[in-house]
Amino acid sequence: MNFHVMTLFPELIEGAVCTSILGRAIQAGYISVDAVDIRTYTENKHGRVDDYTYGGGAGMLMQAQPIYDCHRAIVDKIISAKNAGDPNTSSSSDASSRGGRIRTIYMTPQAGVFSQEKAAELAAEDELIFLCGHYEGVDERVLEEIVTDNISIGDYVLTGGELPALVCMDAIARLVPGVLGNVESSETESFDDGLLEYPQYSRPEEWRGRKVPEILLSGHHANVEKWRHEQSLIRTKERRPDLYEAYMKRMKEQA
Ligand code: SAM
Repeated sequence: MNFHVMTLFPELIEGAVCTSILGRAIQAGYISVDAVDIRTYTENKHGRVDDYTYGGGAGMLMQAQPIYDCHRAIVDKIISAKNAGDPNTSSSSDASSRGGRIRTIYMTPQAGVFSQEKAAELAAEDELIFLCGHYEGVDERVLEEIVTDNISIGDYVLTGGELPALVCMDAIARLVPGVLGNVESSETESFDDGLLEYPQYSRPEEWRGRKVPEILLSGHHANVEKWRHEQSLIRTKERRPDLYEAYMKRMKEQA
């Protein structure tokens, strides 16, 4: 999986992905992250990438031209790399292939909220392009030209799209085979079956008077699984009644 991030602050992306699991996954070649500086593509001789909004109002808007050219450069690079590996792939001069099939995601509060389901859907792609807005946002016309998906990370407004893009990349990357090392660890987590994960414990058996539930020390696999499922139900009902209702409805329909 190759991530390409269009941003005015590439250092925010680079700094975040070089450590821990993502850093190791990049080193091992399971994923790559290319943070591309939109400013590099501006035709403005002073390096400007933003301007006032038509119709008035406070704040600046990111202009269409630098973003469009940045996107074209990324798409051309992807197509060239594919052509180098497969001479039958359509060429970069084929306008219909340019951007048409490469998922280009605009991070915006004006969209449906990101989910584990969306992460799984996007993890099936080979290439993903993220556009991080800043200031008041982005000129609508370039969004209409290049964006295939709009994603929000929650109903609040952040200063830029870099943290949202990192949130999405992290969730997607850990579903790419090899990234976590142990496939099991992404298979039995919250949301996989529509429920939150059960509580977990590590050594010691007793800490500050709190004991690990007896059942987990029993070595009885079936009973442990049963207990975990019950705990998942209890936790989901308490913390996310919306998920619990949906799960119960699904179970009834399947019965
Ligand atoms: N004026 C915009 C509005 O009211 O919808 C908000 C612009 S925000 C200050 C600047 C940029 O941050 C956006 O273009 C977007 O890329 C990013 N952003 C802010 N909040 C976000 C969220 N909840 N999810 C995803 N991206 C967000």
